[in-house]
Amino acid sequence: MYSWEKNIRTVEPYVPGEQPKETNIIKLNTNENPYGPSPRIASMKLDTDFLRKYPDPRAGMLVDKLAEYHGLSSDQVFVGVGSDDVLAMSFMTFFNSDKPILFPDITYSFYDVWAEMLRIPYEKQPLDENFNIVKEDYMKENGGIIFPNPNAPTGILVDTDFIEDIVKNNPSSIVIIDEAYIDFGGTTALPLIDKYDNLIVVRTFSKSRSMAGLRIGYAMANPVLIKYLNDVKYSYNSYTMNTPSLILGSEIIDDEEYFRSVTGKVINTRERFTKAIKEMGFTVLPSKANFVFASHSTVPAKEILEKMKSQGVYFRYFNAPRIDNYLRITIGTDEEMDKVVGLLSKICCATN
Ligand code: PMP
Repeated sequence: MYSWEKNIRTVEPYVPGEQPKETNIIKLNTNENPYGPSPRIASMKLDTDFLRKYPDPRAGMLVDKLAEYHGLSSDQVFVGVGSDDVLAMSFMTFFNSDKPILFPDITYSFYDVWAEMLRIPYEKQPLDENFNIVKEDYMKENGGIIFPNPNAPTGILVDTDFIEDIVKNNPSSIVIIDEAYIDFGGTTALPLIDKYDNLIVVRTFSKSRSMAGLRIGYAMANPVLIKYLNDVKYSYNSYTMNTPSLILGSEIIDDEEYFRSVTGKVINTRERFTKAIKEMGFTVLPSKANFVFASHSTVPAKEILEKMKSQGVYFRYFNAPRIDNYLRITIGTDEEMDKVVGLLSKICCATN
C-alpha cells in the first residue's frame, strides 16, 4: 500500500450494462429506445463555428424550451449531462443531513453508489413480497427520499396520491422522484411541484426520446430548489452542457407526434411480449416502463441470460438478493421481440 492511499476517496463504482461492439445483436440490456430520435435532427445542418466558443453556462436554449413544453417558468428547470448528472448533483445539493436518506432496497443501483461516494448516510427500505414500495417506510425521520417512478428494475408504478402522501408527510426533507421511465404509461408527479416546495421531478432524454447518446437529463422543482442546484453546478463545472446537445435537444422537444408514436409502439410491444412470455411460464411484474422484469418457473435466470447471449441477445441481470432469478428485458421492436420469444421458447420449453 502506498502511504498516500489512506487519503484516497475509494468507491465501489456503479457498473453500467455492457455496450458490445458487435452490430448483429439484439441489445436489450440498457433500456435504450429501439427507434431512432426524431427524424427532424437528421436534416439539421450544424454550423461548426459555435464549437470555438464556450457553451451558454445557463443552457438557456434548452431550459427555456423545456419550461415552455411543461408549462413552467425557466427558473423551475435545471438541465444536466443525463439524469445521472442531475441526480448526482441533487444528492450533493440536497442530501446533507446527519439523518439517513431513504430509498428502496431494490431500485436504481446508482443511488447507493452516490450516497457512498458523497458520504451520505442511507437506509434501504425493503419492497414488499410483490416488489411494491411500502409507503409507511417513508414516514419516519430522514435526510431525504428518492425513488424512481416507475421503479427500476421492477417497472412497477405508484400513483400520484401515493407520492403526494410521502411529499406532504416529509415537509423537512427533499423528495426526489426519478421519472426516467414515466413516458411509457405512467402519470407524472409534476403538477405537485407547484403545491409542494420540497419535491423534485427528474427526467431524461435517454429512454422515451431515444437520445441516450446525447446525454440530457433535467430536474423540475420550485425556483428556490433550482437555484440551489445551479449554485452547486456553478461551483463545480459551469459548462456541463455542450452546445450540440443544447441545439439537438431543443429541436426534438417540438416533435410531439414522433414522441407519442414511438412511446406508443414500445407500450404495445411490451404488452404483446409480456403476454407471450407469461404463456411460457414466466412471471412478469406489471411494468409501466420500457422494460419488463421476469423470472421463469423452472429455468434459472442466469442460464437463460447466458444461452440468450450466445445467440446474440443481451439482457440485464443483477446478482443481488431477491432478484437474482430475474432478468430485466428492454423492449425492442416487434420484430426483435418476436425473435426473442422464439429463442426463449426453445430454452424454456425444451427443458420443461
Ligand atoms: N434513473 C434510472 C431509474 C435509470 O434507470 C437510469 C438509466 N440508467 C437513469 C436514471 C439515468 O439515465 P440517464 O443518465 O441516461 O439520463
